[in-house]
Amino acid sequence: MRDSPGNERIGSLELIAGCMYSGKSEELIRRLRRALIGRQRVQVFKAAIDDRYSAVDVVSHDGQRLSALPVRNADEAWHRSDGGADVIAVDEAQFFDAALVDVCEELAHRGHRVIAAGLDLDFRGEPFGPMPMLMARADSLTKLTAVCAVCGAPTATRTQRLVGGLPASYSAPLIAVGATDMYEARCRAHHEVPGRPRPHAPWQAMMQAAATPSTTG
Ligand SMILES: [Zn+2]
Repeated sequence: MRDSPGNERIGSLELIAGCMYSGKSEELIRRLRRALIGRQRVQVFKAAIDDRYSAVDVVSHDGQRLSALPVRNADEAWHRSDGGADVIAVDEAQFFDAALVDVCEELAHRGHRVIAAGLDLDFRGEPFGPMPMLMARADSLTKLTAVCAVCGAPTATRTQRLVGGLPASYSAPLIAVGATDMYEARCRAHHEVPGRPRPHAPWQAMMQAAATPSTTG
């Protein structure tokens, strides 16, 4: 997709979303490797907050790696973006601020193939950072699932956070730096968040009203 006279490159935004252990980084690395094999210029950003394994590499759980530029926020990614890159990737997109949405849109508008990967839901099961807006604006969306650590179903979409072996409560801080936290992939039925407000409360009230025998009929 290099620039050539009369052949303006057309950009796009691809999103890779899912819970932990769903293979997001593997999928991102797979797409980037294919671009590199096609002799395309690739630039990778990752949130500086994520230093689990390496400050300068995108590392998947199976140990594959590609070098990445750690940035503190979307503004820094914008100012350090390579205008000559064919592909610009953002890993751990959920850790970025809301401005990442505009940055990705503008980069795609300028002709880059933008690929963002991240957790769509936090440990509470709620939309994480800029991911919902990125997913809505993406030209293509890949939502991956993992294997539930409890029942083995291949349909896990939630990230279970465990503190001292017990499910983390709803009021626990969103981003924990402590090393005692553990994470598992879990299906909807086995995702536990003590203290979580009941979702769909208006819907439940309607169901209760419908189930109550009428006194007027
Ligand atoms: Zn399960």
